[in-house]
Amino acid sequence: MTGPFDSLAAPAVRIAEVPTPVERFDVFGTATTSFWVKRDDLTHPLYGGNKVRKLERIFATAKALGRTRIVTVGALGSHHVLATTVHGTRAGFAVEAALVAQPVTDHVIENLRASLAQGLVAHPCRTWSGVPWAVLRRLGRDALYVPPGGSNVDGALGYVDAARELAAQIRGGLLPEPDLVYVTLGSGGTAAGIGAGFDLEGLRSKVVAVGVASPPFAVQWSLRRLYRQVAKRVGVATTSASFERRFDVDWSQFGAGYGHATPACEAAIREAHTSGLELDATYTGKTFAAARARVSVGDATSILFWHTLSASPRAPLLASAPSIEDLRSRPKLGPLLPTSRRT
Ligand SMILES: *Cc1c(COP(=O)(O)O)cnc(C)c1O
Repeated sequence: MTGPFDSLAAPAVRIAEVPTPVERFDVFGTATTSFWVKRDDLTHPLYGGNKVRKLERIFATAKALGRTRIVTVGALGSHHVLATTVHGTRAGFAVEAALVAQPVTDHVIENLRASLAQGLVAHPCRTWSGVPWAVLRRLGRDALYVPPGGSNVDGALGYVDAARELAAQIRGGLLPEPDLVYVTLGSGGTAAGIGAGFDLEGLRSKVVAVGVASPPFAVQWSLRRLYRQVAKRVGVATTSASFERRFDVDWSQFGAGYGHATPACEAAIREAHTSGLELDATYTGKTFAAARARVSVGDATSILFWHTLSASPRAPLLASAPSIEDLRSRPKLGPLLPTSRRT
């Protein structure tokens, strides 16, 4: 199925400040392996990271279909919900989300307060089983449903755009064609889009998708499905052999599961910080740790880490945000925010 617009033209809604830089970090490489970072932490000064490119394609479809409301889903502290709220309201949409309870950390509370300050209409759910009802109740002819993580075909198409941008930077001599591209595998749209984009551009770089979300079999299935769908959308034929050639799925950093840091991840966060890169414990710290471990193996001449976390300061998003006490006093949200916080 083709969409309401040309999937290879630039997105009709432009939010990201592109091209994002590619930078070489000699401190993370060796004499025989160069280490590069694709700075998608810098996609937008107000709120960056990987969700911005996904949302450009999603919002373009919403506009083409005449929808004025976005209905989405995420955990309480979801980056996707925050990004959708920040950029969706600015693109003229009303943004609503079913928000599901998760272990409450300071980071989770901050994202939730920022989302509400930016205009999110929240529909709190105690468990994921409550989500379908919360979403169905809010759907209508004026609404577009966006799945968790923004990982539908449109979202993945945003990363086909990104892969094509990297290919142009390679052709322009800004970096060599990487042997390995390390990217976080959450809901899969980012990795799927990059893989299909590399196919389209004829790059030979292997996409190493570092698994951080559960359950692993479902995550892997979702990556395969999205890769197949988005490749078809841009006119690239795929088989399971082409998937195997293009991707390695790496679960070495999964540890105790989604949102649980590992010692290697914590070390990676500290190491990157000293070179001016901010990582997080759920997604990018694990991927960076895997990429650094691969440098030590010494089997690649060039490794690229695709940064996906927003580097933007939180303070501007938190101006006039509700206090935690205010959130605790709300009848449906309060019970999801126990007083003893894990940090
Ligand atoms: C959402 C997210 C990811 C995962 O991207 P998917 O497309 O869901 O696989 C990676 N890193 C960060 C910081 C994210 O917020």
